[in-house]
Amino acid sequence: RAHTDAIAALNPRLNAYITTTSDAALTAAAHADETLAKGEARPLTGIPLGIKDLFCTNGVRTTAASNILKNFVPPYESTVTANLLRDGAVFVGKTNLDEFAMGSANITSAFGPVENPWKRNGDDAALVPGGSSGGSAAAVAAGLAMGATGTDTGGSIRQPAAYCGIVGLKPTYGRCSRFGTIAYASSLDQAGPMARSVRDCAIMLQSMAGFDARDSTSVNCDVPDYSAAIGRSLKGLKVGIPAEYRAEGLSAEIEAAWQQGIAWLKAAGCEIVDVSLPHTKYGLATYYIVAPAECSSNLARYDGLRFGERVEGPTLDAMYEATRRAGFGPEVRRRIMMGTYVLSAGYYDAYYLKAQKVRSLIRRDFTESFQKVDVLLTPTAPTPAFAQGEKTDDPVQMYLNDIFTVPASMAGMPAMSVPVGLGATGLPLGLQLIGRPFDEETLLAAGSALE
Ligand code: GLN
Repeated sequence: RAHTDAIAALNPRLNAYITTTSDAALTAAAHADETLAKGEARPLTGIPLGIKDLFCTNGVRTTAASNILKNFVPPYESTVTANLLRDGAVFVGKTNLDEFAMGSANITSAFGPVENPWKRNGDDAALVPGGSSGGSAAAVAAGLAMGATGTDTGGSIRQPAAYCGIVGLKPTYGRCSRFGTIAYASSLDQAGPMARSVRDCAIMLQSMAGFDARDSTSVNCDVPDYSAAIGRSLKGLKVGIPAEYRAEGLSAEIEAAWQQGIAWLKAAGCEIVDVSLPHTKYGLATYYIVAPAECSSNLARYDGLRFGERVEGPTLDAMYEATRRAGFGPEVRRRIMMGTYVLSAGYYDAYYLKAQKVRSLIRRDFTESFQKVDVLLTPTAPTPAFAQGEKTDDPVQMYLNDIFTVPASMAGMPAMSVPVGLGATGLPLGLQLIGRPFDEETLLAAGSALE
């Protein structure tokens, strides 16, 4: 009730939810009370969660924040949300995002921007919550959910977590099933938890993770007890500091937070090691070839026939054109056009194939550094949250937000953003931990020493 009341009071301003399911949530909560009374509690019984509106939820509208899916009601449940429901979670609503998860500020949603619950000291300007999981981050930060699901293709869990002062974990590619999650770039998309503490993330991930035969890239390996990693001794843990992340545009306050994080980990017994990831500088350029290429292919299915909205036209081609013109916003169209271009005959070798080769080199950088260290510590984003309206006229400025999050995505490594305090203007700052494949436990262990 506290959460549904908070949603009623604050969602009109924050716009964190596209769809709220308060009545159903209160009914489910009453049922959870009975379950608890009978002593049959499951790990998430009665826990109110927000679900990014990219996860298909059976019978509950799922829009991807796009006009083309504005009335789409899935007839099935995504594996991640089914796992959370199995463990007793109560869904309070579907959270806002950038359209089809394409963006870094939650300003491309067809349902309007999300406002960050934080303000700069002495300044009332509305700030962006980051993106694309901006609704999830704002909802968790403002107490409109105890936790939320996010998806991360190039940083969409970690960067909004940093901007809103919460914890966000992108698991290893293949750890959580993609079945029933609306696809953006399939070789990068990964679901993960967003919550107010590392422990809450561990509990959520426990439920979300696991092999699923319905996702061909789901990996069949053990899901360890994540909560057991919290508070584990860090003595002797080798923490790598990659030189290349000391990049241009890194703000002084984030640099200071990074040094503070290094000091805390040292104090906890970690050994700090300088490492180099030389191909980091190609991360963004490569990502913005691979992700749009996959997006242009994935979004071909929205043709006015199979899913979502249709705008009639005199011929089949005219119907396709009218449907897609009305259905997709400008950023999604830009991505489809970039993706179609880099995949087209004559340009495929120069762009797409080259990007795939560079992607292998980026992955190799990580593999080599993980022979020397157990985990990497970097900033999550170059700056804290910025104002709504800033950086919006230049897409390249917007893409630069992802400079520190994209490399781990390209390599499929698990990575987590942890809030480490407030910066000069009173806004939360986040640091990123990047780990070995399927070693989310080390992220959780080291993260609990930083938060
Ligand atoms: N900002 C990046 C993009 O727009 C990442 C988004 C994401 O991780 N879904 O592609």
